[in-house]
Amino acid sequence: MVYSAECEQKVMIQSIPDLLEYLELDPSNAPYTLLKTSNFPFLVSREYAERMSKKNWFDPLLLQVLPRSEEEQEKPGFSSDPVADQSAVTVPGVLHKYCARVLLIASSACPVHCRFCFRRCFSYTPVSTAASEWERAWQYIQKDQTISEVIISGGEPLLLTNEQLESMITALGAIDHITAIRIHTRIPITLPSRIDRGLCALLSKLCKTHSCVFVIHCNHPQELSVNVREGLSELRRCGVLLFNQSVLLKGINDSVATLKDLCLQCIASGVVPYYLHQLDQVQGAWHFEVEESEGKELITALRKQLPGYAMYRYVKEIPSMPSKMPL
Ligand SMILES: *Cc1c(COP(=O)(O)O)cnc(C)c1O
Ligand code: SF4
Repeated sequence: MVYSAECEQKVMIQSIPDLLEYLELDPSNAPYTLLKTSNFPFLVSREYAERMSKKNWFDPLLLQVLPRSEEEQEKPGFSSDPVADQSAVTVPGVLHKYCARVLLIASSACPVHCRFCFRRCFSYTPVSTAASEWERAWQYIQKDQTISEVIISGGEPLLLTNEQLESMITALGAIDHITAIRIHTRIPITLPSRIDRGLCALLSKLCKTHSCVFVIHCNHPQELSVNVREGLSELRRCGVLLFNQSVLLKGINDSVATLKDLCLQCIASGVVPYYLHQLDQVQGAWHFEVEESEGKELITALRKQLPGYAMYRYVKEIPSMPSKMPL
């Protein structure tokens, strides 16, 4: 599937008034102030918007995508690059922060603009399979024998075409020391229709020779609609190992009941809960922050209620540390 400009019209909702009209919400009654323009524009896929409840200003999916005036307020500690990604860029498009694994920026686009995204201010140079940058990225990975895993990330790597993905995966898979290919993607949640036959065919092939891991990003049980679950089943049938990471978000998933439901519903869909991230302090996202002390209390309560295999690791990313740090 190729997301050309004309099919984008059908697939995406590109303006706030269009979304509010669809949700039967009158902007003059908004309980908070909407932000009309932003450097990080509003964008949501129709597939994602269809899971929002109508006439509810506090719908947990709506709150993740709706720009609010809080984004413009400066807050101490909040910056444009909170996890020091810029300094981890070794060659364009390659982030090498941790031992044995590198992260590849394969695309800078996303079908949903999550307002709390830690990359909302980061201007990426994605590697493209055609460009000389790709050649440099590939050579960097090929030369360093300590790297055993490549994480294809973004933006949204699954916005690449199947042909682009296949040539990237084939080239990486041909490197002897690469034993695992991981894809960090929110597409199974934001655009499940993207999980098409061509993608499944190339993943099934990859699974025969390499560990193939997907880390998806789901923040609320309401995101797990029937079509999302079907897409996840398809991925599992290919042999892909599925994990979920979430961001702890104020007013969205900061309750034991919601997190418990989310973890158990993930397990029921064949997805193992992985990280619960403390919000990265990116400019414009302070209103989503849950205090660490509160996060720890939630985790303690959650641990009592969940089987061990359904339990998150609560972590924070601290620049210059050799891994995500447990909280
Ligand atoms: C989070 C992250 C990884 C993956 O870390 P895991 O703990 O293996 O999931 C790799 N590289 C970068 C730059 C990251 O931010
Ligand atoms: S899908 Fe992921 S990378 Fe894209 S805006 Fe949302 S959180 Fe950020």
